[in-house]
Amino acid sequence: MPLTNKIQLIAYPDRMGANLADLRSVIDRHFARAIGGIHILPPYPSNADGGFSPLTHKEIDPRHGSWADIEALAARYDICLDLTLNHISDQSAEFQDFIARGHQSEHAELFVHVDQLGPISPDDLARIHIRKEKEPFRDVRFADGSTGQVWCTFTEHQIDLNYSSPKTYALMEDTIAFLAARGVRLLRLDAFGYTTKKIGTSCFLVEPDVYDILKWINGVAQEHGVETLPEVHDHASFQYAIALHGMHPYGFALPPLLLYTLLDNNSTYLKQWLRMCPRNQVTVLDTHDGICIPDVEGVLPKAEIQAVIDNVGSRSADPILRRSAANVHTVGAIYQLTCTYYDALKRNDDAYIAARAIQFFAPGIPQVYYVGLLAGQNDPELMEASGELRDINRHHYTLAEVDAAVQQPVVRRLIALMEFRCSHPAFDGVFHLMYSNDSSVAMCWRNGEMQAELFVDLNFKKTTIRYVDVKSKRWLSLRA
Ligand code: BGC
Repeated sequence: MPLTNKIQLIAYPDRMGANLADLRSVIDRHFARAIGGIHILPPYPSNADGGFSPLTHKEIDPRHGSWADIEALAARYDICLDLTLNHISDQSAEFQDFIARGHQSEHAELFVHVDQLGPISPDDLARIHIRKEKEPFRDVRFADGSTGQVWCTFTEHQIDLNYSSPKTYALMEDTIAFLAARGVRLLRLDAFGYTTKKIGTSCFLVEPDVYDILKWINGVAQEHGVETLPEVHDHASFQYAIALHGMHPYGFALPPLLLYTLLDNNSTYLKQWLRMCPRNQVTVLDTHDGICIPDVEGVLPKAEIQAVIDNVGSRSADPILRRSAANVHTVGAIYQLTCTYYDALKRNDDAYIAARAIQFFAPGIPQVYYVGLLAGQNDPELMEASGELRDINRHHYTLAEVDAAVQQPVVRRLIALMEFRCSHPAFDGVFHLMYSNDSSVAMCWRNGEMQAELFVDLNFKKTTIRYVDVKSKRWLSLRA
C-alpha cells in the first residue's frame, strides 16, 4: 500500500508536550484532520545531537514512552522514523563491546578503523567533506590500555558504521525488519551521504558506491513493505537521482526558493523548478535542521541566493558554515540559515499562508514541522542555553502553549488549508502548472471532474483557491 497522500507532521517525541502520549493527545485535539502521517524525530535512547546518536533503534527512550505509543499512532497515521544508518552511539552495546575487547570483539568490523585505510595525506584530508572543525576521526582507548582511531563524522559520540563489512548490512537488515514490524511505513535514511569512505575523494556521496548502498537498503525496506526517504543536502541533481532509483527524494530546494519568490515577488525560478521537480518527492519548508543553501544552487542564480542569505540572515542566528576545504560548488560558505520559517517571512501571515499553499499544491507529499505548524518564532534562549544553533527553531511547547498557539489566526488559516489538502480528491490526480505572470503563481490538480486551483498574487500576498466541491460538483472558492 503506497503512502497516504496527505500532509505529514514532523515532530519531536517530547517538544509538543512532554512525551509521545502528549503528542498523541495534541494531534487528536487539534490536527487529526490536518495530517495523514507523522515523522517522529528519533525517539530512541540517544546521548547526543537531539536524538541522532541512537544506542539502538529497537528501544524507545522511556522518558518519551514506549513502542505502544508509536503503534497507537501507526494505527491511524503513516509513521516515518529515522534509520540512522551512518552512525551509532558510542554508548551502544556494540561500541562498548569493542572498547572492552578491542579487535577481538565480534562488533569490531562495524566501525571504520582509520589506521586500516592506508596513508592519508594532508591533501586527502582537505578533500573530506567535514561537519565539524576537525578531521572526522576519534581516538579510542581500549580496556587493555591500547589505543586506536575510528571515523566519526558528527559529534564525538556518533561513531560511523563501516559499509565495507557484511556485519553492518546484517545490523541494518535486522533493524529494518524490527521497525517494519512496529508499523513504520517510511524510513528516513539519515545522513546517508557520509556512508562512502574512499580516501582521495570527498568521502561524501561517492558515486556510484552511494547508490549501491541506497539500493540495498531500499530493497530490504521494500521486502518489508516500507518506503524510504534518503536524506541529503547537496545539489538538486542528487534528489533526481534518488527519484530515478525508486526512492522518495526530499524537495529541499523549495524552502530557500520560496523565500526568494516571496521576498522578491518573482515566480520565475519557482516555476522552472515546479515543471521538473520529482513527482514522488517529499516537500518541506522547515525541519529540525536549518534552511539549507546547497540544495538551491543551480536552481536559483548566485546573486538571488545571496539576496536570500542577506535578507533572512538579518533575522537569524549565526549561520552554520560549510566545512569542506574542497567543495567545488559553493556560494560563500553558508550551509544552513538558522531561523524559523515564519520569522524568515518576517512574521507576515499572508506571506506565510501563500508559502504553505504553494508547498501543498507542489507535487509530492508535504511535511510540516511542528514549529512551522504553530507559526513559531525564533527561540534564542533555548539556543543560548544549549549552544546548538539549530535550537533556535526547536522550541519546547508545553501543552498549554500548543493550545494557545493554535488560536492564532495564522494557525487557524494554516490548519484549514491543511485540512483542504488532506481531503480534496483532486490531489490524487495530476499536477499542472498554469500560466501566470512573473509576479504570480498558478497551479492546479485535476482528477477527472475533481479539480483544485491555486492562484497566488506575490505583490499583495493574496492566496485564492478554487475547487470543485465534492458534494455539489460546483466550483467554489476559498480565500486562504
Ligand atoms: C540530521 C541532523 C543530524 C545529522 C547526523 C542529519 O542529516 O537531520 O539533524 O545532526 O543527520 O545524524
